Amino acid sequence: MAIHSYPGRLFNRLFCDFLHLHSSHYHHGRSKRLLISRFFQPMNLRDDRMTGAGRSSELSCKSQRLMLQAGLIQPANTGCFHYLPFTVRAMEKLVRVIDEEMQSIGGQKVDMPSLTSASLWKISERWDLLGKELFRLKDRHNVEYCLSPTHEEAVTELVAMQGNLSYKQLPLMLYQVTRKFRDEPKPRFGLLRGREFYMKDMYTFDVSEKAAMETYNLVSDAYTRIFEQLGLEFVKVQADTGSIGGKMSHEFQLPAEIGEDRLLMCSDCHFAANVEAMMGAETNCPQCHGKLRESKGIEVGHTFYLGTKYSRILGASYSNTENKPIVAEMGCFGLGVTRILAASIEILSTEDNIRWPGLLAPYQVCIISPKKGSKEELVTELAATLYDTLIDALPQLHGEVVLDDRSHLTIGKRLKDANHLGYPYVVIAGKRVLENPPVFEVSCQNNGKTVFLTQEGVLDFLRNVKVA
Ligand SMILES: [Zn+2]
Repeated sequence: MAIHSYPGRLFNRLFCDFLHLHSSHYHHGRSKRLLISRFFQPMNLRDDRMTGAGRSSELSCKSQRLMLQAGLIQPANTGCFHYLPFTVRAMEKLVRVIDEEMQSIGGQKVDMPSLTSASLWKISERWDLLGKELFRLKDRHNVEYCLSPTHEEAVTELVAMQGNLSYKQLPLMLYQVTRKFRDEPKPRFGLLRGREFYMKDMYTFDVSEKAAMETYNLVSDAYTRIFEQLGLEFVKVQADTGSIGGKMSHEFQLPAEIGEDRLLMCSDCHFAANVEAMMGAETNCPQCHGKLRESKGIEVGHTFYLGTKYSRILGASYSNTENKPIVAEMGCFGLGVTRILAASIEILSTEDNIRWPGLLAPYQVCIISPKKGSKEELVTELAATLYDTLIDALPQLHGEVVLDDRSHLTIGKRLKDANHLGYPYVVIAGKRVLENPPVFEVSCQNNGKTVFLTQEGVLDFLRNVKVA
């Protein structure tokens, strides 16, 4: 044993020295610079060939076109897309925003299987009700399953299996962010209406209808805060309960021309409803008799008060103060995660350039180095030094700054790419880096303004950037 321990110690010492040496490198970011030339992105890989947008017969829209153009998504098969690295980063940020709000009201995150057994869906009678929208399959034992579009049955069974739930544990709020599946008759508009997508779905269990309504309002308020943080205007409308069922339902809609939902909004009060939820063709507000106007929206959130529809048939109950079993009152609450991403691009972007909600931009800052062979190339290290200094001085920007090192391209061409991708801040080491002290050009996507700043000035300027 002794013979092994000595080299072990030696190795440990050497290893510590190694770590010590390299941690300082790491700290300065030298070995970890994010270089555009290294990104996996179709526009990087194949400069001109376009992206498959024209290949399929699906209807397209602005967000889909922009996301394809910027190499954010790649069509895989009908209504299914590869989410490429930039998209995944934006989505992870969105999930962080959602997690924070769901957990601040008591939500607990779970992760349920995508495969749900047909027998469960037969109990709720939705196996037949959903018809062709449900992706169905059989395992090797000939047992039927579906790829779940939603999890009311699964979560209710999960809770029902915990037979000893006490009233003290309620409200119970379980949620997940997972892939959902729907065999859309006409997948279209990219991530807005796909066959495989991410959804946040929360299911709540309460002691009474009154308590369930309080929970309903709690979750609705959390949704409001999410859209406010993202800077997205929304309308909350009365909605049809559809195949989910239940007693009451609202949708969160983002007004947009491309929207597939027709909304009626009162010009005099706050009344708003999905046309589907209105009885007949009303033209006057049922609350104040004011005039209703129609507009289009993209549904990004849906809330339901379910009552006991699922808990009764699947036996989800709790023990009350007298230790008697009582059927729980339920709610369910969905947010279309991938749809929110695409819808925000649809709504905020120009015809040519993506604009993200600030919090969700995949990277906050892009630094463009001088072109190879230009006079400014003499000071090319300035861009890299600025990169390292930014990350050192502003820890919140760690992992948020990329360096466009494709110095064989003109600054103009790289700025155009940066604008397509929608970095909130683009810092250019252009002609004025030859001045003393060097001056950088900072262009801000969200207000279209350009400012000229020294390195110190750039640091100050980016000090308050918020990152999800
Ligand atoms: Zn009204």
